[in-house]
Amino acid sequence: MKTCYVWSQDLINHCNRLPAVPRRAELVHSLIGAYGLLKHVQVVNSKPASYEDLKDFHSELYLDHLKTIQDVDDEYETTPQDEEYGLGYDCPPISQMFELVSQLAGGSITAARCLTLGLCSVAINWCGGWHHAGRFGAEGFCYVNDIVLAIGVLRKKYPKVLYIDLDVHHGNGVEDAFNLSKTVFTLSFHKHEPGFYPGTGSVGDVGSLVGKGYCCNVPLQAHYSDETFVYVFERTLDAVCIHFAPDAVVVQCGADALARDPHGGANLTELAYCRCVGLMLERAKPTLLIGGGGYNHTNTARLWTCITARVLNRSLSEDIPEHDDFDEYAPEYTLPVKKTLIKDPNQKSYLDDIIGRIKDNLTQYIGPPPPQVPQSTETST
Ligand SMILES: [Zn+2]
Repeated sequence: MKTCYVWSQDLINHCNRLPAVPRRAELVHSLIGAYGLLKHVQVVNSKPASYEDLKDFHSELYLDHLKTIQDVDDEYETTPQDEEYGLGYDCPPISQMFELVSQLAGGSITAARCLTLGLCSVAINWCGGWHHAGRFGAEGFCYVNDIVLAIGVLRKKYPKVLYIDLDVHHGNGVEDAFNLSKTVFTLSFHKHEPGFYPGTGSVGDVGSLVGKGYCCNVPLQAHYSDETFVYVFERTLDAVCIHFAPDAVVVQCGADALARDPHGGANLTELAYCRCVGLMLERAKPTLLIGGGGYNHTNTARLWTCITARVLNRSLSEDIPEHDDFDEYAPEYTLPVKKTLIKDPNQKSYLDDIIGRIKDNLTQYIGPPPPQVPQSTETST
């Protein structure tokens, strides 16, 4: 399995500036490098997205406004126009806004092109995964929806694309973008509780009009564990793939469902993520792996390093290797993410009910699964 890893120093520098995840990109890249994994991938230089590329999803009004934001210092006061485009609160304007979104989107577009050009079967961009951004503006720490743009690139070659979202938050921006589509299936696993952002993504949300049935949500109660996650993932993925046989797959590996994430509230370790990514890779479809949330930065670096190793079928030492950011991993300096002792409230009966409703939705809206290939039977005369 050949793997492309998209990277450039400019991409890392811009990603490092994101107010929600300062310096995280550097930490991730440096841990992957410290484990020697870059020797086993094809490192591909990330190319920034052009205005034309970005226009495939975002409105010109939004893009033109981003171009006007150049130097933002502590004195900068958010204008009503900024706020109209979602720039304020959790998506504050920052310097060189257009260059930033061009780099972030460019990473995932470059990775998608690696797949469509046949350079690899798996492409990775840990600087991507900004699933909340909308066509007309920023939302939920996300300034640009690199995922929608990358899926657009994949769709030029692959008729049917499956999008899987592992982030603790519902992948609303991507779901909304493909709400009316039957060629892009969106599947999101997330914490779903009153007051938890973004508040959408219930099991009854299945897409609209011709896209009805081509969207699936797996809402989970807080503190979900590895066991719960793998249980629902395996069964849901099987059901979705029976009804919608994808030609390519995008997996958003948001790390904020890891235990101890300050914005999360789930209780996963890297083992559940790697198992789920592994189940997807076993299906041997061209696969784009991207990042997303993850606000405990060292745990995010641990997770994405482990997933990169899983793609490459390499095992890693539990001891973090010496490297520039080694001190960040104090006090244990070890790789596994430790779960908390909080009990998982998701009962098997609740999970089975969700899975049952998902299967019913798939059958009702997409149609019954294709019949099994009949066994050849001997007939005697
Ligand atoms: Zn998130």
